[in-house]
Order: sequence, then C-alpha cells, then structure tokens
Amino acid sequence: MADCIFCKIAAGKIPSKKIYEDDELYAFHDISPQAPVHFLVIPKKHISNIMETSSEDSALLGRLLHKAQALLSERGCAEKGGRFVINCKSDGMQTVEHIHIHVLGGRVLSWPPG
Ligand code: AMP
Ligand code: ZN
Repeated sequence: MADCIFCKIAAGKIPSKKIYEDDELYAFHDISPQAPVHFLVIPKKHISNIMETSSEDSALLGRLLHKAQALLSERGCAEKGGRFVINCKSDGMQTVEHIHIHVLGGRVLSWPPG
C-alpha cells in the first residue's frame, strides 16, 4: 500500500535496522524499544490488522509466528522466553495499520498490560 510506513520499510524505501528478510517476511528493530530485545516481524503483503485475515492467510501467519520465536531464540531468549504481542485496532492501541508482531525479551515483562 502506497502510504503505509511498514510497506515502505519492507521495500527498503524507509531505513530500518533489519534483522531478517525473505520473500514473505521482514523483521526489524522497534524504533522505541520497550525491552532489551524488541523487534517487529511483518508480512511483506499489506494486511491492516489481524481482524482482516482469513483462512487463506493461515500459512503466512504460521510462518510469521514461527519466525518470531526463532529470531527471539537467536537473541539468547530461548530459555527464559519473552512476549509476542499483536495489537489490533483502537482498543488494542494499534498505531501502525500494517499487521506486525512485537517480540520482546531480555527482562521480566509485567502482566496484565495497562
Ligand atoms: P503498534 O502500537 O502495535 O501499532 O506498534 C507500532 C510500533 O512500531 C511501535 O512500537 C513503534 O515504536 C514502531 N515503529 C513506528 N515507526 C517505526 C519505524 N520507522 N521503525 C521501527 N519501528 C517503528
Ligand atoms: Zn503496509
């Protein structure tokens, strides 16, 4: 989508601290990290939010989730884990309307969120 910041990041038109890329996925450090490890994994395909997905996206969503855990494991967090977050729309306080999973680790994360 032409005016989507994450589409532009995935296409290399806006700089990011890339940590992974393949044909379908792109992962990069969050610009405002909330933990020692905090990165985002997105599909290159523009999907606004998780409510807009269907069964046709099942394989892509599976790959997204699995890549998120693999990249967190690579960062030394396999033993202690972390958190995988997908904010959605206004009640979920989603600010960028291109589906993304936040992956956080490296410290104890409190629960529940505010
Ligand atoms: P959300 O509130 O779930 O939509 O999260 C959007 C996230 O994108 C926030 O954590 C922002 O810090 C992050 N973000 C926004 N712009 C950029 C950018 N240009 N590069 C990296 N992360 C970004
Ligand atoms: Zn997009």
